Amino acid sequence: MYIKKLSIFCIVLFFFFSSGVLNANPPEDTPNMIRVHLFTSKSVTVYPCSGELSVFVQDEENFKSSEPIIFKAEEDCISFGKYKSDSFKITSPTYIKIGSNKYRGDIFVVFNKKNSLFVINKLGIEDYLYGVVGSEMPASWNVEALKAQSVAARTYSAVKKKSPRNKYFDLFSTVMDQVYTGCSGESPNVIVAVSETAGEILTYEGNPINCYFYSSCDGKTSPCENVFSSSPVPYLVSRDCPYCMKSDWSYTITRNELSMLLREKKIINGELYSIKIVKQDESGRAALVKLITSTGNKIIRGAELRLIIGAGKQKSTKYTISEIPLTKAQKIALLEKVKAESKNDIPAESVINLDSEINSILRIVNLISLPVSLNTNNEEFSDSAVYSFTFEGSGWGHGVGMCQWGAYGLAKNGYTYDKILENYYPNTVLEQLKF
Ligand SMILES: [Zn+2]
Repeated sequence: MYIKKLSIFCIVLFFFFSSGVLNANPPEDTPNMIRVHLFTSKSVTVYPCSGELSVFVQDEENFKSSEPIIFKAEEDCISFGKYKSDSFKITSPTYIKIGSNKYRGDIFVVFNKKNSLFVINKLGIEDYLYGVVGSEMPASWNVEALKAQSVAARTYSAVKKKSPRNKYFDLFSTVMDQVYTGCSGESPNVIVAVSETAGEILTYEGNPINCYFYSSCDGKTSPCENVFSSSPVPYLVSRDCPYCMKSDWSYTITRNELSMLLREKKIINGELYSIKIVKQDESGRAALVKLITSTGNKIIRGAELRLIIGAGKQKSTKYTISEIPLTKAQKIALLEKVKAESKNDIPAESVINLDSEINSILRIVNLISLPVSLNTNNEEFSDSAVYSFTFEGSGWGHGVGMCQWGAYGLAKNGYTYDKILENYYPNTVLEQLKF
């Protein structure tokens, strides 16, 4: 049924289907198109930009509107006025606006579960990349770097089309996959970069590669097997990054806080005492770290520890660790705190000096457990009890694949995008997308 230019009120009156839930067709995977999850919500308001919105159910255009349309998730469907369905498709001759962002292509509103719906943008891969590349790399950068980023982002999209996140969408619009903000992320430079590489992806043995990228590596990239896989990947090996940007950082976390984080993630059971780097990869990153704890030692990947601490705090795995002991002032503060909170009597004979007093209290109230050897050796406790760990490092990101600052440096020094890609993804082929 087709209704022209009527207000929302009138449209509701003319609904062809006025009751019952339709089993609508969800957004399907089609060649050269990508389905991007924008957000999950209880409701969404979709605005026309210029021209009318057309709303489809079961591949039929059911109505048009030049007014905003509100879709709401109910118990078992999505409703728009009295109209109910599993999904709605909204199209526009120009753009569709949701919140402050404008989108190319079509919008699908799909029932997720009780009181929850998915908002999905389905559009051509090239149109999608207009909104991605400028979110992943500054749009003001040299166009050859932007072209390399375009190929990397297109290759990533091709991989996600083969292994979609969900039966309704291929990928998320956040750092979970690639940041996408619709037309807000577009700029003329980016559109040139995407257009001049149209359809090109990197393949290895005929398949799109896992095109990892990150901000900066500090001179050398990391082999994949220390971060994402258990065995080497021929195109994700350690590579020199001659024009990388230096970016130093440091981060301090208390032993208690890190101990708690590791217990929450069920990495350790007891109390963390110390951390040692036991294997560095050829780029100087911490491939393996040993956690020394009250219930034994455990070796985990440096990349895993980074994610537990937070990738924004521990910016890379290229670091050294300093163990900072309790200062005298901290010991006194701790002693006062424990005394105030403790209902236990402190045996007078153990109060010989400050350290032994703290040691006894800690053992009695079990507020902060320390190594048994430290509990019985005041001198060692005094010297060795770790209050916090300071990680001093360089680089930002996991270090595998293309270094964006390095790509920028190569572009400024005359490298074309294909040579930039060859530097970070050796043994791959640049070819046209076949999806
Ligand atoms: Zn680099």
